[in-house]
Amino acid sequence: MGTYISASLRRMVYERAVGCCEYCLIPEAAVLAAHEIDHIIAQKHGGLTETDNLALSCAICNKYKGSDLASLDPVTGEIVALYNPRKEGWSDHFQLNDGFLIPLTPTGRVTERLLQLNNPYRVRERNLLILSGMLSEPNQDVRTL
Ligand SMILES: [Zn+2]
Repeated sequence: MGTYISASLRRMVYERAVGCCEYCLIPEAAVLAAHEIDHIIAQKHGGLTETDNLALSCAICNKYKGSDLASLDPVTGEIVALYNPRKEGWSDHFQLNDGFLIPLTPTGRVTERLLQLNNPYRVRERNLLILSGMLSEPNQDVRTL
């Protein structure tokens, strides 16, 4: 936020993510607010404005993530890094099940909780999108595309 991101860089990030939030999967076409370009490692932690540190994020995920890098695992109490869409596959950490994003790992758990991925309104919206064919589990790894 606050950093100039060129139109071509924005387009590259958007196309790599096929227009969907890389955290909660919601397509930009399904929401009112345009998706945002997220610095996975926030600039205040030294993250650069480069393709391998950028992800497409819906406004809600981006708001909850803020500049955070990690959180406390609700199961173990350990500090665990948040999901990094450029270094890890979505399906390694989450599973889409009846509109819920089921965390599969400690990273999945901390990300699910911090980003409030299973807020009831978001689950309901996801279910409507699944029914209308607008949302599905990612079937390709977009880490390095
Ligand atoms: Zn999202």
